[in-house]
Amino acid sequence: MEEKVVELILKDDYGRPIENIRMSVTQRCNFKCFYCHGEGQLSNSYVEMSPEEIEFIVKVAASLGVWGVKLTGGEPLLRDDIVEIVRRVSSVPGIKDLSLTTNGFFLKEYARQLREAGLSRVNVSLDTLRAERFKAITGVDAYERVIGGIIEAKNAGLNPIKVNMVLLRGINEDEIDEMINFIRENGLILQIIELERPYEDALYMRYHVSLDDIEGRLKREAKKIIVREMHHRKKYILDNRAEVEVVRPMHNTEFCLHCNRIRLTSDGKLKPCLFRNNNLVDLLSPIRSGADERQLRELFIRAVKIRKPFFT
Ligand code: SAM
Ligand code: SF4
Repeated sequence: MEEKVVELILKDDYGRPIENIRMSVTQRCNFKCFYCHGEGQLSNSYVEMSPEEIEFIVKVAASLGVWGVKLTGGEPLLRDDIVEIVRRVSSVPGIKDLSLTTNGFFLKEYARQLREAGLSRVNVSLDTLRAERFKAITGVDAYERVIGGIIEAKNAGLNPIKVNMVLLRGINEDEIDEMINFIRENGLILQIIELERPYEDALYMRYHVSLDDIEGRLKREAKKIIVREMHHRKKYILDNRAEVEVVRPMHNTEFCLHCNRIRLTSDGKLKPCLFRNNNLVDLLSPIRSGADERQLRELFIRAVKIRKPFFT
């Protein structure tokens, strides 16, 4: 008999509902993007959750009102069981939105299988449209390959496809117009992302660019502006073929106030905030010691209750 999904949204002590989970499925990566935050996971862990364990955690999350799952990493397509993971997660009752973020290197090979397994949409990291710059940022000469992956994802029917562009001072600031043309011509959505660091370290000082100017321009040019529930991110509809989202987390109290996501590290720990590492709640060890759904639900609720906005 199919299990009943509880229609209840779990809220933290700041009134923020938890509706999404961002799950890292590996810390391994074949790229070396110099600015990578590794989803805020500090420990270098070789432990990875099995597809069954991932499915179990998603079931528990769904029973508490979570309906959106984003798979991330490291590079999620390095897992040779990624199609099985997608199949299992997409079939959990209550999960309405399953997406994945990838560097695109293996997307050409996987796009169709992922679509068939129940993936609805995909984010592809692409900071530049110049092959040389791509190599300088990622450490890998794979620009053409990633473009091929995006085209195949489109042909496979993954929709929408978002291009994640982290804006970097002196590196790709001059490519915004080109990028907007690229997404317009290819029917994609552009996400311009502010460089995130928990502290204003040397890398931040060197490469961080404020998104004020670009956002001001988008505001003036937009035919329509949509404020998304998640983080109150703004989406600018420039014309019927170009949509640009702006992700501005740094020192943004609105962003934290409207954060409706919890994270899971690749070694199975709930992580209430990207920038905090002193409040993780281990799920994988209890699962491996035989914890049942009720016990996991209690751990989940505990992790939600210790959530705190980072920028206040
Ligand atoms: N490897 C996959 C990828 O590149 O999409 C998934 C993991 S990656 C950590 C997820 C997203 O985080 C990518 O779009 C990447 O550009 C973005 N990202 C990584 N480090 C960042 C940082 N310091 N600030 C803002 N975005 C960052
Ligand atoms: Fe980080 Fe993704 Fe780049 Fe790998 S591809 S280094 S996980 S941003």
